[in-house]
Amino acid sequence: MKQRKAMKVDKSIQVRFWGVRGSYPTTTSSSRDFGGNTSCVEITAGGQRLIFDAGTGIIPLGKEICNGASARPAAYVFLSHTHIDHVMGLCFFEPLLTPDARSFIYGPGNSHGALTRSLQQLTHSDLFPVSFDELKGKKEIHSLVGGELIRFRAPGKRPIVEKNSAPAQPSSGELTIVAHKSPAHPRFGVMLYRVNYQGKSVVYATDIEQQEGGYPDVIEFARGADLLIHDAQYLHGEYSSTSKPKKGWGHSTIEMAAAVAKKANVKRLVLFHHEPLHDDKAMRAIERCAKALFPTTLTARENLEVRL
Ligand SMILES: [Zn+2]
Ligand SMILES: [Zn+2]
Repeated sequence: MKQRKAMKVDKSIQVRFWGVRGSYPTTTSSSRDFGGNTSCVEITAGGQRLIFDAGTGIIPLGKEICNGASARPAAYVFLSHTHIDHVMGLCFFEPLLTPDARSFIYGPGNSHGALTRSLQQLTHSDLFPVSFDELKGKKEIHSLVGGELIRFRAPGKRPIVEKNSAPAQPSSGELTIVAHKSPAHPRFGVMLYRVNYQGKSVVYATDIEQQEGGYPDVIEFARGADLLIHDAQYLHGEYSSTSKPKKGWGHSTIEMAAAVAKKANVKRLVLFHHEPLHDDKAMRAIERCAKALFPTTLTARENLEVRL
C-alpha cells in the first residue's frame, strides 16, 4: 500500500516590513533605500496573515491581499493606537473597499465601541468624501484594553479573545497574540503586541518613549523574544536638543531601544518608526551605531523580510 506523505507544517514566523517611518511619510529620493511609508508590519505564521498598524504601508499590502488566490480575503489588523501616522492608510486599504473581503480590526479602546468611534473620525465629513460605515468591505472592530490573549482558529474565522490570566507568555505551539497597554506614549498610551507561535515570539513595540533604565513592564513583556521591533525615532542629540527638544513626544532614542533589548534579553532588535528627516545615509550611520550597542540589531526598511 502506498504511504501517504505527511504534509510538512511550516513552523516559522515570517515578518515583512511595508512601512517603517514615524510621524509622516517621506518621498525624497535620498530616502528610497529605507522607504518612506508610515508604520505597517505583516507577520505570517500558522497559515495566518497578521497586520500591525495601518500607516501608508498598508495600502500596497491591501492590494496584494485582494489580488491573492482567495475569493473572500480576510485581513486581521492590530493597531498600536490611532495617531494619524498609524491609521492614515486605512481608508485606502483594499479589503475595506472590497464587498467580499472581511477585515477584523483590533486596537486600544476603553469601552465597547470606543475604537469604532475613533476610526469614524478619520472619515469626518470635513476630512474625507465618504463615511467609514460606507466603505464596502465587511468589517468588525474590536476595542482592547490590554491583557488580552487572542487565539486564532481557521483562516478567515474571527479569533477568540480572552483574558490572559497567566502573567507568563503562552508556551503551547498555537498561534496567539498577547496585548499589553503601556502608558509610555502621549496622550492615551499605546498597545504592544506579542505574537507567539511554535515556541518563538515577536514583540511589536512602536511609539514608546522609554524612561531612564526602561519601563519594567515593557522589559518583562519583551522578555526573551526572538525579535523585538522597537521605536527608535531619535538620535540622542535630537532627543535632548535645547533648541528643539523631542523629549515628551513619545519616542525613544537608539540608545533606549538597545538598552531595553539588552535588559529583556531578546535575540534580535529591529529599529523602527524612523524619523522621516533621516535619509538613507543617516540611516546607515544609525545602523552602525546601534550594532555597536546591541550587535544583532537590524534596521527596518521597506520589504525587509525576517524569518524565524
Ligand atoms: Zn507614530
Ligand atoms: Zn503615536
